Amino acid sequence: MKKNSFLFSTKGIVLATFLSLNTAIYAQKTAEAAPITERTLSNILEKNRTYYTQGKVADYIPELGKMDAKAIAFSVVDKNGKIYNSGDVNKKFTMQSISKIIALMVAVTEKGESNVFDKMGYFGSDKPFNHFSNLETTGKPLNPMMNAGAILTTSLISGEGEKPFLKVLDMVRYITKNQGIEYNKSVYESEKATGHRNRGMFYIMKNSGLISGNEDQLDNYFKQCSIELTAEDLAKIGYFFANQCIRFDGDTTYKNAEIAKLVESQMLTAGMYEFSGEYSRMVGLPSKSGVGGGITVSVPGKMGIGVFSPSLDQHGNSLAGYHMILDLAKQYNLSIF
Ligand code: GLN
Repeated sequence: MKKNSFLFSTKGIVLATFLSLNTAIYAQKTAEAAPITERTLSNILEKNRTYYTQGKVADYIPELGKMDAKAIAFSVVDKNGKIYNSGDVNKKFTMQSISKIIALMVAVTEKGESNVFDKMGYFGSDKPFNHFSNLETTGKPLNPMMNAGAILTTSLISGEGEKPFLKVLDMVRYITKNQGIEYNKSVYESEKATGHRNRGMFYIMKNSGLISGNEDQLDNYFKQCSIELTAEDLAKIGYFFANQCIRFDGDTTYKNAEIAKLVESQMLTAGMYEFSGEYSRMVGLPSKSGVGGGITVSVPGKMGIGVFSPSLDQHGNSLAGYHMILDLAKQYNLSIF
């Protein structure tokens, strides 16, 4: 009897432990697998809303300084192409450096990867986006995500005048299925009038023979940076590269696993400028930011994320945007590592 009750109680403990472990594992699984809802996004957004007070809106391009620092938006396109939005979802902002991944795709599709990367490196970024390295040493830009490499990439897209820019714009319109996307002429004029560092890089690369055209090519870079869109559009771009260049609605016109891998690898190693290394430790997802306050994120094989908040940290990345991505990535265990 004693033995039995002992056995019974041990069994009871084992059973109870088994059940509670099982419940814990189940709870963890359901938390991970729980579908994203607009509620999830708005909770994360509200938690991070005030980060804008700790950063600064970019004003080295004077027109960008006019952005409303308090604006904030958070969008996700899930595996099935379903869209979730929270915050100022209709608020438009300029893509800035995020346009570099589209220009890279267009240039590589046209010229082939080796004809682009024989003129620049695959190096990760440990320097600010507007740094001249390595133009005075090896002569070649470090990667296509920093300004020098991006200006060069855009110059490699064929066509006279603004034709190369129009190809980038058309690709953004295609990926987002949003034909209404335009570029902001005031931001473009503002950047053209003040972009002396970029002009300097352009002429150094022209001097070394990497660039062969005229200043129209630099204007095309300024114009692509001025393309205006929303956080939802950015989520669709993230989705596209996360899913072998298949559009969120399933359209496979540009399906290309290799180009998607190339773009995602550049996003991971250089997409957040000199913060890229720490960012991949913290978030672990291919991402590309722009000084307009947007960040696009690819969760490989799964979803796309788009965030917007124009107040930036010292590297030029959206502060609230980063924190929203970080929270979502933690909550849903999205890191690729
Ligand atoms: N248009 C900006 C520039 O060339 C893009 C930089 C960025 O978004 N980091 O300075």
